[in-house]
Amino acid sequence: RTVYVNGDYVAERDATVSIFDRGFLLADGVYEVSSVLGGKLVDFPGHMGRLKRSAAALEIALPWDEETLLAIHRELIRRNALDEGMVYLQLTRGSAGDRDFHYPDADTQPTLVLFTQAKSLVDARSGREGIRVATQPDWRWARRDIKTVQLLYPAMAKMAAKAAGADDAWLVEDGMVTEGASNNVWMLTHDATLVTRELSSAILPGITRAAVMTLAETLALQLEERAFSVEEAQQARECFVTSASSFVTPVIAIDGVPVGDGRPGEVARRLRAAYIEESRRRAL
Ligand code: PMP
Repeated sequence: RTVYVNGDYVAERDATVSIFDRGFLLADGVYEVSSVLGGKLVDFPGHMGRLKRSAAALEIALPWDEETLLAIHRELIRRNALDEGMVYLQLTRGSAGDRDFHYPDADTQPTLVLFTQAKSLVDARSGREGIRVATQPDWRWARRDIKTVQLLYPAMAKMAAKAAGADDAWLVEDGMVTEGASNNVWMLTHDATLVTRELSSAILPGITRAAVMTLAETLALQLEERAFSVEEAQQARECFVTSASSFVTPVIAIDGVPVGDGRPGEVARRLRAAYIEESRRRAL
């Protein structure tokens, strides 16, 4: 695989970053994952817009404009002949050559790293058959609206969910579901209203969430942005999650309680198909 590190396209075994990089020492960095369909980038402007907001919230310099970032993404896709999968981008504050809690001088070069991952997304089994989730306490920090590389707790929550026999974790705070460990959560009520949690610092503003909200409006579905409890989701007609790499994925059980008839729901299936079709059409 060819990867990108600070201006260079190199073989992955030749790629190096300093051990003093603040991304490595302090998780002082942000990231984005864009999916690739037919060799083209899905929701690219959305992902780059969020990258800018994440970097700005942490005062990390981003000395590459969107056009340059698009060119880097495309060059990596080309070099790796990627047809379907993801491009991962990570931006860290870099390093002034020592360990220090305080940020280094503003002229310190940030570190930019990108790599590709080939993966079958459209025909993923989870998309067809749905996933089982297990709830875990949301013990992440309070600025979940910033897409930082501090992913230790989401990793722990996914491991705990796996140990409980589930495919993924849903995070719960004050009795309400915040989001999945790496996706946004949705339910369809029995009176056919789609519900997803409102944006705040409690959750990541998903790019796929925004796209699916627009699609839901085109499909004339009732939409409500509010928090819901685990019990309400367990009793819902359907549940699903959204993210760049999983698109729309049905949730068929929550803590062992089947959702609906325990099979992927009709609305989730329709939204998944519509999202994939629209994404292929709009991909860059
Ligand atoms: N919430 C969290 C915590 C995530 O990690 C992700 C995936 N990056 C999402 C939501 C979904 O965001 P997106 O649709 O932009 O991939």
